[in-house]
Amino acid sequence: MTDTGTDAQTQYVAGTVGDDVLTVHKLKATPNARGAATLEPVCPVPGAEPTQWLRAVNCADCLAVVG
Ligand SMILES: [Zn+2]
Repeated sequence: MTDTGTDAQTQYVAGTVGDDVLTVHKLKATPNARGAATLEPVCPVPGAEPTQWLRAVNCADCLAVVG
């Protein structure tokens, strides 16, 4: 599963979105030009600020999307 089409490598991290701290989503971390990463949940979550956590992903929707 090696994709060699892009220079910016997409990584996935775990994190919560908004006030729901029980559901840990898989967040797509897209590196931007300034070296920071834009975090975006891979499942449809109503717009809130994602927060990265060092926890295991437990959102079934996110787990179904990738891997
Ligand atoms: Zn999710």
